[in-house]
Amino acid sequence: MVRSLATVTPADPESASKRRLAAAVDSARDEILDLSRRIHDHPEVAFEEEQAATWVAEILAHHGFTVEHPAGRLATAIRATRPGGRGGSAPRIGILAEYDALPGLGHGCGHNTMAASGVGAAIALASISDELPGEIVFFGTPAEERGSGKQIMIDDGLFEGIDAALLFHPCDRNHVQSFPLASEDVEVAFHGLQAHAAADPWKGKNALDAMILLFSSVGLWRQQLKPDARVHGIIQEGGTAANIIPDRTKAWFMLRSPDLADYEALKARFRELAEAAALATSTTVDVSFSGGATTMKANATLERRWVENAAAYGIQDQGPDPNSGSTDMANVSWVCPTIHPELSIAPAGTPGHSILFRDAAATPQADETTLLAATLVAQTALELFRDPALVAAAWRDFRGESPAGPLR
Ligand SMILES: [Zn+2]
Repeated sequence: MVRSLATVTPADPESASKRRLAAAVDSARDEILDLSRRIHDHPEVAFEEEQAATWVAEILAHHGFTVEHPAGRLATAIRATRPGGRGGSAPRIGILAEYDALPGLGHGCGHNTMAASGVGAAIALASISDELPGEIVFFGTPAEERGSGKQIMIDDGLFEGIDAALLFHPCDRNHVQSFPLASEDVEVAFHGLQAHAAADPWKGKNALDAMILLFSSVGLWRQQLKPDARVHGIIQEGGTAANIIPDRTKAWFMLRSPDLADYEALKARFRELAEAAALATSTTVDVSFSGGATTMKANATLERRWVENAAAYGIQDQGPDPNSGSTDMANVSWVCPTIHPELSIAPAGTPGHSILFRDAAATPQADETTLLAATLVAQTALELFRDPALVAAAWRDFRGESPAGPLR
């Protein structure tokens, strides 16, 4: 259970500044939690997070950040900067926040708590910016649940010159290490020919038959897949009427694997299954992959700092989650030192992407975790601002020059 922020004294030499960050989060408590609840109450799906991004940008501007919104080509992306009062261009520490919801579910991944904690961390750091060198750089990153907003922001050059990327993700347990699966969204569309389904069905080419064959092939394929591979999809268009041979069907699949070579093999095989279904039904098929599939590069230096900062608040790291999803924070991890720590907002065993997790993301426990996460992100960033050697060590990890020792 998370202890109250006010009762905790982090036991390290920088504790005075860290306590001030905790106090800054506490004094912005209402603003942070109001943002979390507003976003939770107004879920917006990937690339459409207009209200959430506007609210986030407004708060950052109010706290003295120079806000780019939109940032790059994405209308709902934000980059907000605030220079440290001690001058210099380094380090530039990135604080990331997500805010997209899941279609038909709402905030079943709890990204409202991420937006709020990222904003909380940024405004806490801003409150002591006179003491900091370099620059605080906040990134509002759209579209984590579909496509990869962060990869687009990387391609737009928004992460150039960033020395570290920090965020928090909600979970049902506490752990800093993640091994997200390489993943892509796959759009599959079969094209056939309409005909009257009773009077002259032999004149049609049935795009729904093709789709059913593809799902059957995927189901049979699972026997030959490695246990850690994932293939899952939904039919988005299955025809328009029972008395018309469907000329168009559309599905949204996802492929995932913890191994990039295995992933490429999955992708090739999936395309063959789709083409085979088209061949068998005299239809044609378009298969398009969203791109950007990658695994995460761990950074032991940053992970250790997070674990120690969390331990000062009584948080025991429970080790990596054996059941991984995917995140585009993995894409950022190949650009600069990155961590993807997770803290519990829900009882252990609560499934992600569920009504239970969605409801947990707007509870007093989620609120306290959001505030703690803001504090820990800010405190970990503070260490990087204060200690160039720590930034250098994180980059040595990134370059593979310091073989990452075991975390514990
Ligand atoms: Zn998520």
